[in-house]
Amino acid sequence: MITSQNLLTEVESKELLKKAGIPVVEAKLARSKKEAISISKETGFPVVLKINSPDVVHKSDSGGVKLGLANATQAGKAYSKIICSVKRAYPKAQIQGVSVQPMAPSGVEVIIGMSKDPQFGPVLMFGLGGILVEVLKDVSFRIVPVTERDAREMIREIKGYPILEGYRGQKPTSIPALEKLIVEVSQFVEKNPQIKELDLNPVFAYPDKAVAVDARIIME
Ligand code: ADP
Ligand code: MG
Repeated sequence: MITSQNLLTEVESKELLKKAGIPVVEAKLARSKKEAISISKETGFPVVLKINSPDVVHKSDSGGVKLGLANATQAGKAYSKIICSVKRAYPKAQIQGVSVQPMAPSGVEVIIGMSKDPQFGPVLMFGLGGILVEVLKDVSFRIVPVTERDAREMIREIKGYPILEGYRGQKPTSIPALEKLIVEVSQFVEKNPQIKELDLNPVFAYPDKAVAVDARIIME
């Protein structure tokens, strides 16, 4: 937990990204169990519920993420469980409620991040999600502004690139969609210099598109 005034919640982060035309799995804030159920019904099952708090950085670590909820009963139970376990883990956290979003079909998990280097300023990172990025640090970096050519290189540079091209019967992901997303994120960062850090982790890459499933923005 960080007690940071500067951490935007997933709902706030995705709103900013969506306004900038960046594809996200939209998340809506529910402030009560009843609201969580009605928003789930509007969204369409299966849904995902997640804790929405400016004090919780890693939502799943504290039981703050429930995936694949199939109906209103499951969504209602998930709401109570999330609030309860996050309160237990972080008694002082300010909890706004729980976000509701559609359960995205599985795709290849990639990460796009931005952090500020004292010398070079904003730097974009691209990598494969999950074990590959955490254990092997299989990532590439470019200084903002990232051009189309930079984005092409960033994607092809990582060791895991063949995974994106599709292997062993796995469908290839859309490389052009990933290139476009990287350039869009770079432009977003350029236009918003008050953003200190950005994390799209994960982005799901599909054969025809790439969509941010989780988003975190930290302001200066
Ligand atoms: P955390 O704050 O722990 O990073 P995430 O929002 O990334 O929380 O959720 C944890 C994991 O749950 C993700 O890495 C992803 O695999 C899965 N997940 C999250 N949201 C969705 C969604 N809308 N659809 C499908 N899977 C999801
Ligand atoms: Mg995440």
